Amino acid sequence: MNDKIRLRFAPSPTGALHIGGVRTALYNYLFTQKMGGTLILRIEDTDQTRYVPGAETYILESLRWLGMEFDEGPGIGGDFGPYRQSERKSLYGKYAQDLIDSGNAYYAFDTAEELTAMREAFESRKETFRYDGITRQQLKNSLTLSAEEVKTRLESGDPYTIRLKVPRDEEVLINDIVRGEVVFQTNELDDKIMLKGDGMPTYHLANIVDDHLMKISHVVRGEEWLPSTAHHILLYRFFGWEDTMPQFAHLPLILRPNGKGKLSKRDGDKLGIPVFPIAWEAEKAEDSFKGFREFGFMPQAVLNFLAFLGWNPGTEQEIFSLPQMAEAFSLDRISKAGARFDFDKASWFNQQYLIQTENATLGQLLKPLAKEKNYEVTDEYLTIVASMMKERVNFLPDIIKTGYYFFEPVREYEEKMIRKKWNPDRKTALLALNEQLENLPDYQAEKLEAHTKTYLEANGLGFGDVFPFYRIALSGTTKGPALFEMMEALGRAEVKKRLLTAFPAFDEVFANKINS
Ligand code: GLU
Repeated sequence: MNDKIRLRFAPSPTGALHIGGVRTALYNYLFTQKMGGTLILRIEDTDQTRYVPGAETYILESLRWLGMEFDEGPGIGGDFGPYRQSERKSLYGKYAQDLIDSGNAYYAFDTAEELTAMREAFESRKETFRYDGITRQQLKNSLTLSAEEVKTRLESGDPYTIRLKVPRDEEVLINDIVRGEVVFQTNELDDKIMLKGDGMPTYHLANIVDDHLMKISHVVRGEEWLPSTAHHILLYRFFGWEDTMPQFAHLPLILRPNGKGKLSKRDGDKLGIPVFPIAWEAEKAEDSFKGFREFGFMPQAVLNFLAFLGWNPGTEQEIFSLPQMAEAFSLDRISKAGARFDFDKASWFNQQYLIQTENATLGQLLKPLAKEKNYEVTDEYLTIVASMMKERVNFLPDIIKTGYYFFEPVREYEEKMIRKKWNPDRKTALLALNEQLENLPDYQAEKLEAHTKTYLEANGLGFGDVFPFYRIALSGTTKGPALFEMMEALGRAEVKKRLLTAFPAFDEVFANKINS
């Protein structure tokens, strides 16, 4: 255990966790695993106005489904708790006060209306208002008001916020593991609020205080937080914590499948692809959606896919178990360029995992899906079906959907082949063959195949005269699993029934062809 390596995943419960957030969690997880460090889950819920009930549960359930375990966090425990920021509320005021005392923050008394008026005045001049080193000189705060007035206002309980006093004319340098040196000019930064009117800290204050108190060594998060990092570095400086400041790694954006623009929550619906790990049930149907889980993805496949959205191991290997992925992972192989979300690639990963998974395990996973359809089958049968279908589908539920004929009668026959090749005169031979097969003591794929071969030779028939029609009769298609395995799975009685139903139907297709 390396107790110097401490990372945190710090989601805000403002809705469902986007797949980008899952990737952030994953990279934090992989790096911690690789280094033998500690992974912390911290819920950043100080913004009451954006709080969404159910979001925290959703985040926890998503992480559980994906199989990422945390060492410290809400419900897990640890020496640095509580791990929900709302439960740490009383702790932040002191730090805001420290900033005031050291002259690095100030009280701002401007009302919401005053600020709106200011914003509008700027807009009318086609400028954007920012509370910063210039405008603060004309606003109502402890830098412009007399010490006496400030005192009176504070004592009489006037509402206020505490704002960071960003210095003028300086450069803030960020040494980012992914992006290298990034320089921000302080004149471009606003005086961010640290403590809000309701006494709650903003994200910025709480995040820095907690990263410090929780002894975080590396901050691995999305690129959208890079601009805020300039403020964060100022905070570390003002608090005198620079020597224990974490190292930063900002992850590249995840782009839409066409490579144009950032993948947004809305893109999922628009493109018919999942952009969330699991389903989100909202009151309004249009705000609810399916996740990777409901699409039929296996959690390991999702993680494997996400690992490659912005990172690569520098080798040809693509399939990694979670421990292998951790072993191969390093922050310096994360790329700066945005990563395109390629759904086909995600499906490919899932198929690889399906193929790799033991048939018996797949059989177990199919159980609830079969039950939903009221298919009464044994575990063993599901295992056999899984073994025959897994290479033919990308997703587990498709085994049941595409392979429905293992559970119920064929719904539809592929007509093209019948029109082209069916010969009603051949029926007698086909049924005679089946009668022989039916009477074999061992109704088993290899035996069935051997006997069929002998029969075909003796009767001057080819595979093409038999196989396609048997296959269509049993499964409706010529693209199903291998014929003899399918026969073995269905059993003699069912095979006979299906042939006897199918052949007259083929005759009909054939007759229609003649008549049309
Ligand atoms: N609470 C922030 C979020 O929702 C965390 C950002 C960070 O990791 O600093 O993404």
